Amino acid sequence: MLTPKLDHLIKQLQILPSVGQKSAQRMALQLLSKKRQQGINLAAALDIAMKEIIECRHCHSFSDDEICPICRDSRRDSSLLCVVESAADVMAIEQSGAYRGRYFVLGGHLSPIDGINADDLHIDELIARIKNEAISELIIATGSTIEGQTTAFFIHDAVCNHVTKITRLAQGIPMGGELEYIDSITLHQALQNRGSL
Ligand SMILES: [Zn+2]
Repeated sequence: MLTPKLDHLIKQLQILPSVGQKSAQRMALQLLSKKRQQGINLAAALDIAMKEIIECRHCHSFSDDEICPICRDSRRDSSLLCVVESAADVMAIEQSGAYRGRYFVLGGHLSPIDGINADDLHIDELIARIKNEAISELIIATGSTIEGQTTAFFIHDAVCNHVTKITRLAQGIPMGGELEYIDSITLHQALQNRGSL
């Protein structure tokens, strides 16, 4: 039997991705029975994060301040600009350790069916940024979904007169991938993008 307060907590936990009724119930009971102080800390962290984390004014990634640490870091190569769909993509690229330029977060991809158009993705702001900064290479790192590809082509067409080098992340076989299990489109792209050993 759930009390109204417990029921409310379980419903709120279900807003998290991949958390259904059963997992939410387990989490709530675990917090209440064994992790009360951690639960209080979690609530405080959520309260601070939801109220105080904002979008960086320059790149639209998440930031504690108006300008994020990556945009502020003068050691990064400001001539490289990488366009991604989300702040999660920035984190993924940062964790790879392979990139030392700056970012621009679109906040999604073009999807007319869902009503997401160029106006929703800060694309005017991206164009203005490319015009005003000395960008030597624009890396379009949107996803390899149809929407991600469409978004990449749209950005390419919008900015190709303002930046000389526009690149796209290579697509191909994942590490540990066996050829016989790779779909034919990926294999086709991997062959086209092949490099020297
Ligand atoms: Zn920033």
